[in-house]
Amino acid sequence: MAKLEILEVPDPRLRTVAKPVETFDDELVRLVEDMIETMYDARGIGLAATQVNVHRRLLVLDVSDEQDTPREYVNPEILDSEGTETCEEGCLSVPGIYANVTRAERVRVRARDRTGNVFEEDLDGMHAICLQHEIDHLDGKVF
Ligand code: ZN
Repeated sequence: MAKLEILEVPDPRLRTVAKPVETFDDELVRLVEDMIETMYDARGIGLAATQVNVHRRLLVLDVSDEQDTPREYVNPEILDSEGTETCEEGCLSVPGIYANVTRAERVRVRARDRTGNVFEEDLDGMHAICLQHEIDHLDGKVF
């Protein structure tokens, strides 16, 4: 595994809109593993491929207290959302800055894992917030 460089604002590459992942191969598996390692190393709870200058729709997150439950979402789609919640968020691409952001409180997401298997999940709390934050990165948005 290898640690990847995280782009920071005002790097214009953070504004790139990512394209769907089409090929589920060894290269994708390696990217997922490298992104998880990079996220842990930076003490983040989420990382989008955009932030490591790969403009494909892929993100990883781990909102567990123990930081031992990495999750990956390839080509994530929000199917449904409910409620609103305002939370102070940080971002590995905007070191030292925290901002209040209002997002949906609960979301239903459909995505694929690194091998291409489709799954759907209902998320709430920090898991839902973090997923929405990372999807914004894939759309070229930084809070
Ligand atoms: Zn971020």
